[in-house]
Amino acid sequence: MERTETRAGWRLEHTYARLPELFWHRQEPVPVARPELVVLNERLALDLGLDPEALRAPEGVEALAGNRLPAGAEPIAQAYAGHQFGYFTMLGDGRALLIGEQRAPSGALVDIQLKGSGRTPFSRGGDGRAALGPMLREYIISEAMHALGIPTTRSLAVVKTGMPVIRETVLPGAVLTRTAASHLRVGTFQYAAWRGGRDGLKALADYAIARHMPEVAEDAQPYLALLREVIERQAALIARWMLVGFIHGVMNTDNMTISGETIDYGPCAFMDEYDPLTVFSSIDTHGRYAYGRQPEIGAWNLARLAEGLLPLLHEDEQKAVELAEEALGAYADRYEHHWLRGMRAKLGLFDEEEEDAALALDLLELMRRHRADYTLTFYDLTRGRPEETPMRGAREFGEWLERWRSRLARQRRTEAEARRLMEGANPAVIPRNLRVEEALEAAAKGDLTVMERLLAALAKPYDYDAAPAEYVAPPPKPDRPYRTFCGT
Ligand code: AMP
Ligand code: MG
Repeated sequence: MERTETRAGWRLEHTYARLPELFWHRQEPVPVARPELVVLNERLALDLGLDPEALRAPEGVEALAGNRLPAGAEPIAQAYAGHQFGYFTMLGDGRALLIGEQRAPSGALVDIQLKGSGRTPFSRGGDGRAALGPMLREYIISEAMHALGIPTTRSLAVVKTGMPVIRETVLPGAVLTRTAASHLRVGTFQYAAWRGGRDGLKALADYAIARHMPEVAEDAQPYLALLREVIERQAALIARWMLVGFIHGVMNTDNMTISGETIDYGPCAFMDEYDPLTVFSSIDTHGRYAYGRQPEIGAWNLARLAEGLLPLLHEDEQKAVELAEEALGAYADRYEHHWLRGMRAKLGLFDEEEEDAALALDLLELMRRHRADYTLTFYDLTRGRPEETPMRGAREFGEWLERWRSRLARQRRTEAEARRLMEGANPAVIPRNLRVEEALEAAAKGDLTVMERLLAALAKPYDYDAAPAEYVAPPPKPDRPYRTFCGT
């Protein structure tokens, strides 16, 4: 592609492409018919050192559609493997291209990826394209996660292609520009262990360390330290998901990052009524990725990472396995630590008491039995209005409230302090499923105002004064269970 975009302020580097060639494939985006900007994340653009005006100009939009390359771009499809629903398979970017890594004014290096940019050698039977609805959905939910303070890939823009994509029906096509600390996945390490030999694996591990945890390079056992660090980040991340009622929906090993960011917003959704068995994904028929199973699936995925890293952990395989098991053994405690810390904040607790976990778990059990909305219950407790929850009147809930109140009274903090802590931990606004759907429906008809209103509310999830009532209350319960879809 000869045409380049030179005005937006691209400062692209290509550190990933210095890995051995087995990790990537040089590939140009396939131009689209009529690029049209649907949404641009101006705040994120500025943080990346990009000029929103230039991105909105025709050449900028062409670059976001893959019809032109940003100055300095060297697009590649990344190779990776992964366990999908427990089965190992070769994957790779089948409909996405890394066009480079933007050096942001902060100094951060940020992957810029076009998703839906056409076929690659990893496309298998797929068309390499994406539909508008799912790309806007990823934009909305990933930005909501960011505003919630949860590490995540982000969305810079969505551009309509002017070309149809054929799924179950004919849908408008789109390209999403996704940004990420990197796109290194557990599945990238599985691929390296499988195809890269010890040298390839070592190159990848050294790259991951340099990019995400340079302090680890000084460690006496840097690869063990790498494993430990990913375990720590994922334990923290999954605890954050659990605390806001986020269900990822497709925790395959290719959808778990090394950076600790949430990635892949295909079938994800926020839980309404609290129930650990909640599943939204239409293909997750056995509930492998149900809300309540996420922590253990995290452990399973990390064990796959550890297996891949074994050759680097010790020359003696038995010793390597022992080291890996020891590192993995820490996960459950680290997860519990992050979860309980978050739960204490959700309950307004500054200090620690032995019974705090039981206090939280007993509340959750009551919520489950009374089918209480997860987000709204904590919101009502924060506002000091427990009588608005569906548990009101239940004797056991009355007892629980007494326990909680005396627990609060034992800490030397004012009510106002406790409330502030709770407000910072209990979002008033989350991307409610039906609110997201209504925004997508309007957008499909060309009306972007519904999505813009929703995005504005999602940008300030902890602002109790600004939260619009329509986004706080759960919409009426639908007749049919809510369903989400992968890879659409
Ligand atoms: P995902 O479900 O998004 O994690 O994707 C799993 C794999 O399928 C990845 O290798 C994707 O690149 C690939 N894939 C998903 N959709 C398509 C498509 N429309 N065309 C080509 N490859 C795809
Ligand atoms: Mg994926």
